Formats: sequence, structure tokens, C-alpha cells
Amino acid sequence: MPDLQHVFAYVDAHRDEFLARLFAYLRQPSISAHKHGIGETAEHARGLLERAGLGGSRVVPTAGGPMVMAERLAAPGKPTVLIYGHYDVQPPDPLELWESPPFEPTIRGGKIYARGVGDNKGQHLAHILAIESLLASQAELPCNVKFLLEGEEEIGSPQMPPFVAAHREELRADLCVISDGTVDESGKACVRFGVRGVLSFELRARGAKRDLHSGHWGDVAPNPIWTLVQLLATMKGPDGRVLIEGFYDSVEPQTELEKQALALMEGDPEGIKRELGIDAFAPHPGGGVAERRSAWPAFTINGLHGGYGGAGSKTVLPCEAFAKCDIRMVERQSADEVWAKLRAHVARHAPSVELIRQGSMDPSKTPLDSPYAAPIQRALALTEGEEPMLHPAMGGSLPEYAFTKTLGIPCFGVPLANADEANHAPNENMEVERFFRGIKTAAAVLVELGQMRP
Ligand SMILES: [Zn+2]
Repeated sequence: MPDLQHVFAYVDAHRDEFLARLFAYLRQPSISAHKHGIGETAEHARGLLERAGLGGSRVVPTAGGPMVMAERLAAPGKPTVLIYGHYDVQPPDPLELWESPPFEPTIRGGKIYARGVGDNKGQHLAHILAIESLLASQAELPCNVKFLLEGEEEIGSPQMPPFVAAHREELRADLCVISDGTVDESGKACVRFGVRGVLSFELRARGAKRDLHSGHWGDVAPNPIWTLVQLLATMKGPDGRVLIEGFYDSVEPQTELEKQALALMEGDPEGIKRELGIDAFAPHPGGGVAERRSAWPAFTINGLHGGYGGAGSKTVLPCEAFAKCDIRMVERQSADEVWAKLRAHVARHAPSVELIRQGSMDPSKTPLDSPYAAPIQRALALTEGEEPMLHPAMGGSLPEYAFTKTLGIPCFGVPLANADEANHAPNENMEVERFFRGIKTAAAVLVELGQMRP
């Protein structure tokens, strides 16, 4: 058994140096939305992988931002872990709300403030520094490791699915570990087993070739806003049930383990209502808040536009209307399947309405009783001092299906950032101690996985 205490002591003895390395990485702006600093930061990340003792570190071009890869495969018979992260960040705007400049990392009150510290540089750097600490404390890594860092996660990972499909052999592994997002809202560590998928689309209705006088032409020429409102009303009932034919057919029932995990996640509904400023939750055919966010699909109208919205009144019959929507999907729904059902529904109920498909990501889920789950939970219990919570699936979406479906391997989210990391917002931060504990957790995960019987 490799001695984790030596590894932890190494981490403790190198805090200043590790922090300096994090700060240098954070000073590299890498804003994918503006294509700013991506190439330079990819090269910086490659250097970090090489310095940690990983081999074959390389920047691999794609049609978009480059991927950064490296590996160390020197533990025959042991599992191979693919570690994924992203080196790009969200734009820092609005700049005036930052208490210190976004690309000048600053410590205040035990937290590191900088754009990208939690999302995601600090989190994947913790894994890289864990490799370095393991190699400094013992001759070899306890299992085989591959790294994949992408540079376009914050713009929807357009290159990930084709890249993973085209590099199946290079990326072949037994499991994938992703440290992104935050620990449980309670502050407890958690293991995340899945994500919901997303399908965005737009509905466009048109009436006459120009806006008309509502007194002269109302109820003579079709009103595209009524067309959309009535179409939307056929898509979801007052009880919250989605009425698109066959919509729930492929939803996989929750396992007993998932039901238990979700029951433990149900927090305080009254507190959630107060926090959101609502008197009641939306009508829904299912259960509690955690169950809705994890185990049910959701159909949201993001925007409904058309006609006059200015001061006073305007007796107009508008000539066009738009609705933007997204559907969050759960395992085993897929974007293509839901899209086909949606098309059939619109064709049946409002054939004149144009339906435009936008971005999508499929859902992903790994079974809670995967053989790799217990070692990961043990590692977290060791560094956190308590058993982690188990999150069957996150409400939001990430391209994890590229790993679970394209590579066919289980995928585990091991978030290291505090729940109030303010990712995507001004004053993004990560607690200093969570960064160092993250390095220890990442090392413990590899050690525990290395103990598994083949
Ligand atoms: Zn993000």
C-alpha cells in the first residue's frame, strides 16, 4: 500500500510552490468566447503536465481550440484513469463588479479570487499536482493516467464529441474522472454520477407579410403569437406533464440506490422557496426538488417574443413571433430521439410553425454500484473526514456522454470547488484549503483505484 501520509506531507511542504504554479496559470487569460489567449494557455497547460512527470505532453489542434494531452502508463494490470478538465474560462465581464482584477489572483479571507480558479484551472491543476506529489513520494503512480484538457468547454465543447470519437484508441481507459462544478450545497463532498442532457430549439410563427391594424384585420389574418401560445399549450399540461407524444417513453426508472441518494439530497423545501422568492413550486407530475433536478426531464420556455412591448398601447396585429426553448433530458433519452418526437408533434399541431434545432448534448449516467465508485468514495472519505454524498445526476449539462457513450466507460464527477465559487460570475473564487485538499483527494483517488483487484 503506497503511503498516502508521505504524499500528504509532500503537499503540505510544497504549498507556496503549488500556489505559485496555480497563480501563474490563472494569470493566463483563456477566454474561449473571445478566442483570447487559448493557444498560449494550452502551451502553458502542456508545460504543467510535463513538469508533473507525465509523458508525451502535447497540444493537439482541432477545428477549434486545441486539446492538451499527456499520459503515464507504467502500472501494468492497474486501472487506467482518464482525467478530463478545461483550461478555458468564461469572459470576466462585468469587470467593475470584481473586487480584484480577474486575471490577477488575490487571496482574501481564505479564498483565492480569480477568473477560472474553480472553473476549472484550480480543479484540474489539483490532479496534475497530485501526480507530481505521488511521483515525488514513491517510485511510480498507483495506476495508469491519461489527461485530456479542452479549451472550449465554456462555449459548449463543440469539438469534444468528434475529437473523442476520432481518438478512441488514444483515450482508451477504464474510467473517467472529472473535477468540475462544486461540492454539495451543504459544503459536503460529493461524487456525481451523471448529468442531464440538453436540446435547444426555436419555434417561429409567421402571419401576414407585414404588421396589420388589429381593428381592421384582427381575427381575419392569423396571429402568429396566438399560434405559438396555442402550440406551446399542447406541449405541456397544467399539471406540468410534457405532452409531446412518447416524451417519457425512454426515461429509465430510478434504481433503488438512486432513489436513496436523491432522498438524502432533498433539502429544506421551504428554505429553497424563500431563497428563490417563490410561494409554490411549479406544477409537476413527480417528486421533490432533488428528484426533479436529477431524475426528470424539464421543458423550459427561455423566451417568447413578438408584437409590441413598449409604453402605452398599440393596436397592432403582429406578423411574426418566436419562442426559444430548451429541454433537459435524462438517461436514456437522447437529443435525436426527442428532436424526432418534437418535430412530429409540431407537424401534427401547428404545421405552419418553423422548428429550428440548436445545440444539444446527450445525458450521461454511471451506475451508483459501479466497481470504481467505492474506491473513489473511500478516497473522499479519507481526505474530507466524512462519507461523500452521492449525486445521481446534475441538473445542468456537460459533454460526459462522449466518455460514457462514445468510449463506453463509467464517468465520475469529483467536484473540488466550494459551493459559492461564483463560477461564470464576478469574484470567482476557490477556498485555499479546498485547493490543497483537492490535491490530496486526487492522489487518494489514484491510490484507492490502484488497490482494486483486477
Ligand atoms: Zn464553466
